[in-house]
Amino acid sequence: MESFIEEVLLSKEALQQRIQELGRELTQEYAGKRPLLVCVLKGGMPFMAALMQEIATELSIDFMAVSSYGNQTQSSGEVEILKDLSQPVTGRHVLFVEDIVDTGLTLKYLYNLMDSRDAASVKTVCLLDKPARRSPQHQGVQPDWVGFEIPDEFVVGFGLDYQERYRNLPYIGVLKHEIYE
Ligand code: 5GP
Repeated sequence: MESFIEEVLLSKEALQQRIQELGRELTQEYAGKRPLLVCVLKGGMPFMAALMQEIATELSIDFMAVSSYGNQTQSSGEVEILKDLSQPVTGRHVLFVEDIVDTGLTLKYLYNLMDSRDAASVKTVCLLDKPARRSPQHQGVQPDWVGFEIPDEFVVGFGLDYQERYRNLPYIGVLKHEIYE
């Protein structure tokens, strides 16, 4: 195991298996609806790539980039749009594909943004959820599908970074505290 990892939370195999299950559920949910899968960059990229191949109905994809963390392990409390969608979502079934829901700030922001855009539906699939970290004003913010609930630990790998590093790990691991303390 890598020297900067405290513990492997989710192996490559566990991720693959759960993503297949999510793909089956989403295939049923979106059959015939030609959903627009919106990958929330950068962390959602490996999840999006794996998940879309498990969804056996016609779909299209787009990308958004938002930032709420900067380079710290604590949220700044503000969300900034770095890249917006490249097409209108009017009448489309939008499915956000996210790496992790933590305080709920990013998800809340994305939902508010979509309110004014006339999508037919807006839902979210999240690989990881840290329910213990949800901030009081975002208690009700809940993704429609969750891969795994995880404890309140700072994790990296499978798209998730610390200061732009470790996104390429094929598993999800807890980062050693001494790396960021
Ligand atoms: P939220 O807006 O829900 O507080 O945070 C969402 C974003 O914070 C995620 O998309 C992710 O970029 C970042 N984040 C939250 N928890 C973690 C974590 O444990 N590890 C990493 N690498 N990023 C996290």
